[in-house]
Amino acid sequence: MADRFDFAVIGAGIVGLATATAISRRHPQASIVVLEAEERVGFHQSGHNSGVLHSGLYYTPGSLKARLCVEGRRRMVEFCEENGIAHDVTGKLVVALDRREAARLEKLHERAIANGLSGVRWLQAGEWHDIEPHIFGLAALHVPEAGVADFPAVVRRLAEKLPGEIRTSWRVVAIRRHEGRWHIGSESGVVVADRFVACAGLQADRVAELAGATPPVRIVPFRGEYFALGGRSEQLVRHLVYPVPDPRFPFLGVHFTRRIDGTVEVGPNAVPALGRHHYRGTAPNWAEFWETLRTPGFLRLALRYAPTGVAEIVRSRSARLYGRAAARLLPALDTADLAPAGAGVRAQAVSPDGRLVDDFSLLRQENALHVLNAPSPAATASLAIGDHIASLLDDA
Ligand SMILES: Cc1cc2nc3c(=O)[nH]c(=O)nc-3n(C[C@H](O)[C@H](O)[C@H](O)COP(=O)(O)OP(=O)(O)OC[C@H]3O[C@@H](n4cnc5c(N)ncnc54)[C@H](O)[C@@H]3O)c2cc1C
Repeated sequence: MADRFDFAVIGAGIVGLATATAISRRHPQASIVVLEAEERVGFHQSGHNSGVLHSGLYYTPGSLKARLCVEGRRRMVEFCEENGIAHDVTGKLVVALDRREAARLEKLHERAIANGLSGVRWLQAGEWHDIEPHIFGLAALHVPEAGVADFPAVVRRLAEKLPGEIRTSWRVVAIRRHEGRWHIGSESGVVVADRFVACAGLQADRVAELAGATPPVRIVPFRGEYFALGGRSEQLVRHLVYPVPDPRFPFLGVHFTRRIDGTVEVGPNAVPALGRHHYRGTAPNWAEFWETLRTPGFLRLALRYAPTGVAEIVRSRSARLYGRAAARLLPALDTADLAPAGAGVRAQAVSPDGRLVDDFSLLRQENALHVLNAPSPAATASLAIGDHIASLLDDA
């Protein structure tokens, strides 16, 4: 006999658990199950990220990303306060090194205001000495709303508080619609649910296909590798320091993060991952890499970003070159103080014409929703994303 639930959520990352929490608030009497492939919750992107509370500075005004990031950041800070989870709203600097970057920084300033970030300040060289005394540049934006949080602790707390069941080591391998209900199967059994949401991150396109949907995008995994800053250089960065992002590329360039545990990380970069779970220290999955190469749009994407991509790959192999890029912002940095640290793998949706999908994106089926693209800042925005999905599911 299959177990019956009103709602099933596939994926116990931060988005899946926030969604299950939001569903339980809207439907207090409903039965909910969260199905997770790994042995523990929050293993993939939610456990391998920079831990930055993004402010909403970068995103197109009016986009889901902009709206849900601003709202989600506020909610995440409240959640951390209420649950005793480590977080710190430290503020961050976005630094322009030359006139071209300063012009882009002005556009970013306008965007910040359009996105409702009233505290953002424009600083000329030297004016940020009391904030980040060792950072070099021509101009900077100071964004007081940004900060850091312990997202893995958020994930654990959401799981503890969820008034529903969480089944780990339960990889969904089949999804069928039968007599008006969804039958969701793994190797260890079947659950039947009236409605479901898939928040499967790096597997989002595959899970959508299992349910008979035709996702309009494919997931391309991009690895983000970190270097840890040690020695004397570690003391040179107080909080969060970013370069002005390249508008063609959603990843944010070599930046510095003093994490909630006090360590300073440089990165992450963005290089094609050799498999959807290709972390540092894990073997490449060549079959999956081959699948990426054959993804419609990937070759066009690779050609479009060839110079940036090659530079990223070369830098990823050399602490010296990585250090040189980082030293543009932090000239006193000693490359010998950089050591390879962890890595995360980003689930990036790519369209058949080779575009990186920028905004959060969802796909509807009857009584079901698939989260197809939830890249950064989805950890920051997760509580607002969960509410958004739960309200859409009521109409799905
Ligand atoms: C390197 C890096 C740095 C980042 N930095 C930041 C940051 O500083 N701030 C920020 O806000 N965001 C950041 N992000 C983005 C953020 O981490 C993600 O957007 C967020 O964690 C996405 O959560 P998720 O629940 O959608 O995905 P995940 O955490 O990947 O969860 C998906 C879950 O689905 C499960 N799953 C998949 N397939 C199946 C199946 N068939 N059956 C059952 N379960 C399945 C997986 O095991 C996984 O647990 C970063 C991401 C990366 C990779």
